[in-house]
Amino acid sequence: MTDPVSASTRVLALLGDPVSHSLSPRIQNAAIRALALDGVYVALRCSGDDLPALLRALAHAGGGGNVTVPHKEAAFRAVDRRTAAAEATGAVNAFWLAGGEVWGDNTDVEGFTAAVRMLLGRSIGGGRVLLVGAGGAARAVVHALASHGAERVVIVNRTEERARELARRFGRGRTRIEVVASAADVGAGAFDLAVNATSLGLHAGDPLPLDPAVAPPIDAALDLVYARGGETPWVRTMSAHGIPTIDGTEMLLQQGAAAFRRWWSLDPPLELMRAALREN
Ligand code: NAP
Repeated sequence: MTDPVSASTRVLALLGDPVSHSLSPRIQNAAIRALALDGVYVALRCSGDDLPALLRALAHAGGGGNVTVPHKEAAFRAVDRRTAAAEATGAVNAFWLAGGEVWGDNTDVEGFTAAVRMLLGRSIGGGRVLLVGAGGAARAVVHALASHGAERVVIVNRTEERARELARRFGRGRTRIEVVASAADVGAGAFDLAVNATSLGLHAGDPLPLDPAVAPPIDAALDLVYARGGETPWVRTMSAHGIPTIDGTEMLLQQGAAAFRRWWSLDPPLELMRAALREN
């Protein structure tokens, strides 16, 4: 049997703080093994001060990786070249070396788009979306929605000014972006999709990001938070109200698959990666 790690093995790393809970090593190493690639994916907890040098050294050593909270904006500043998704969102969650330069992408955009397509069975083009949250993940969501021609996006966030900032950032295209103080202020009219882009649901006892009892009619819902077995409290509640709802596992998988394509220039073994996640 050949050594799984040799002198020529490419090192890919998830950089963030914390990282010990991450499922990315599991899905990426499953794909690396399945395609018999000479690589290994690890998780490295690092400080904001250490991030730029670590990211650039990994890339220049022939590797690459992902970046997670709280360093996606620092990673944006640390790379030489950025994809359109990274430029639009001001965040980088995947990096690699190409043509001697360190590139950064925000594959959360592609991950979200793919998860929505799976949930709805179609693109969100022309659709109406109710978005709860206005942090980093919400930026990827709004960029994806605007790029795919959603007709209207209504944002609700605990800190209203942050939602207004988001609306200003993406509000120049054909997608109408509005901010309301609470779900009760949304007014009449139905939504094709509701999205939870807050961190509510991560901790036991968190309130629901959006209570279906007071929300307008919603056709489907996507929770960016993910949980063992796919059942966050919000997924459970929305499903109990008859609303097709999925958690963030599919988005996690799809953003990882997009990053895999950047690093290896190969199609990722998606089903196998999905199975690796299910073992969680
Ligand atoms: P972030 O930038 O820190 O933003 C957090 C968001 O949650 C803000 O809108 C914040 O509101 C809101 N929030 C936090 N605590 C709240 C509370 N007690 N009540 C009401 N709102 C609250 O984080 P992020 O990077 O956007 O990530 C958000 C979530 O998405 C995380 O759970 C993350 O794991 C998940 N995510 C999943 C994927 C995936 O692939 N599935 C990818 C990216 C992110 P304020 O503005 O008022 O603080």
